[in-house]
Amino acid sequence: MAALNHPARILIVGGGYVGMYTALGLQKKLSRGAAEITVVEPQSNMTYQPFLPEAAAGNVEPRHVVVPLRKVLRKCTVVTGAVSAIEHARKVVTVQPSEGESYELGYDLLVVCPGSISRLLPIPGLAEHGIGFKTIGEAIYLRNHVLSCLDLAASTNDPDQRRKALTFVFVGGGYAGVEAMAELQDMARYALRYTPGVDLTDMRWVLIEAASRIMPEVSVRLSSYTVDRLTERDIDVRLNTRLESAEGGRIRLSDGEEFDAETLVWTAGVKANPMLQQTDLPLDDTGRLPCAANLTVKGVTGVFAAGDCAAVPDLSKKDPHALCGPSAQHAVRQSKTLAANVISTVHGGTLRDYRHKFAGSVASLGLYRGVAEIYGIKLRGPLAWFMHRTYHVSRMPTFNRKVRVLADWTAALLFRREVVSLGQLQQPRTEFEQAAGQRRLPDVS
Ligand SMILES: Cc1cc2nc3c(=O)[nH]c(=O)nc-3n(C[C@H](O)[C@H](O)[C@H](O)COP(=O)(O)OP(=O)(O)OC[C@H]3O[C@@H](n4cnc5c(N)ncnc54)[C@H](O)[C@@H]3O)c2cc1C
Repeated sequence: MAALNHPARILIVGGGYVGMYTALGLQKKLSRGAAEITVVEPQSNMTYQPFLPEAAAGNVEPRHVVVPLRKVLRKCTVVTGAVSAIEHARKVVTVQPSEGESYELGYDLLVVCPGSISRLLPIPGLAEHGIGFKTIGEAIYLRNHVLSCLDLAASTNDPDQRRKALTFVFVGGGYAGVEAMAELQDMARYALRYTPGVDLTDMRWVLIEAASRIMPEVSVRLSSYTVDRLTERDIDVRLNTRLESAEGGRIRLSDGEEFDAETLVWTAGVKANPMLQQTDLPLDDTGRLPCAANLTVKGVTGVFAAGDCAAVPDLSKKDPHALCGPSAQHAVRQSKTLAANVISTVHGGTLRDYRHKFAGSVASLGLYRGVAEIYGIKLRGPLAWFMHRTYHVSRMPTFNRKVRVLADWTAALLFRREVVSLGQLQQPRTEFEQAAGQRRLPDVS
């Protein structure tokens, strides 16, 4: 393959797992004379999503599970904005900053990795009352929200309002949903010791899963072990059940049951980022970019993709149609191959294929509890929980972040859990607006 003119303009859409690790690989191996690397990302940081449940539970400081992009990508240009369109025929992307006019950026090589978004279903009331669990904002919100619900339950005289405040519903039993629920319930159970008048039996935690099992990433045995552990901890796991409606905060399930809930968390899967529809790149029937095993997008030249938004063949499986699932494990490893192949394209070398056998999953079910299945070896309880922590801290980008997360865990072991509710964070301007006379004080009649 012929080398590109230098410096080659490499543009990376998205600064998550694939985007950040690819940029790190490129800045390490490509001199400024060989390439100009630009990363366009709406947030100024990369989020380490597997730690979101621990951040929500307060075991890890939320600031420590994000990596500031400008700090680590010193040889790249980081643009804080969203790519709203890609016109590969002209080799330009349109960038929309958080405020002001959009503008175009040109490129010679394009890496597309804007990840996925929550896959919502048209369920009445879901958009109004539900919240996802994919961002650091959602994790912080849920922590404060759950603690505020306990405060409300302890302070209201209305039994219906109290019951509603103490009912927490999670829809979707993948690892994100199970971990988020288990960690938040663990935190809420602990917080009850400082919430007089509210008992463990007053809280209701419901996990709704449409399939006949949870956590498809682990074996059936480990999945039913997880259900048993959750049930033991008073989590009501409903398998083969769908959410039919959430209008007005009234939860209606396909098994006929109805109840009110103040909290509805939607973790029922992801779909490729819909921004990809605003491009002239080919898409498969699930909206992902169809890729060859060398991570180039099929049917076009000069475009690479990986991660949740890409349909990448899984060469470790016998089935020739098998694709890599959406996981951090694939995303990190794909970004290594991707960076190597971009460098080969810049210098005119050959591209290599991505091949990785999925190693398995580790999941935390709250402090000292977990499940893990690594290369077929099944682990449970404290050992699995320890594996979960060891694995993820080893994967956490940058030495600085690893040390900070370890320091958070050490502090949490030495001191008691911090369960202060910062509900004010959800609406920081309320008091100021009241002072300015723009907002009425709540009725206390
Ligand atoms: C709560 C939770 C727990 C998880 N736990 C695990 C786990 O234990 N193990 C595991 O293997 N996987 C886990 N995952 C999945 C894993 O995090 C994802 O598969 C991985 O992040 C995918 O990497 P990515 O680079 O494709 O997407 P992301 O890491 O999501 O990065 C995409 C980036 O693109 C940016 N972006 C979006 N739109 C645009 C746009 N228009 N223009 C520019 N940039 C854009 C986003 O802001 C984001 O930073 C978990 C996910 C969640 C939500």
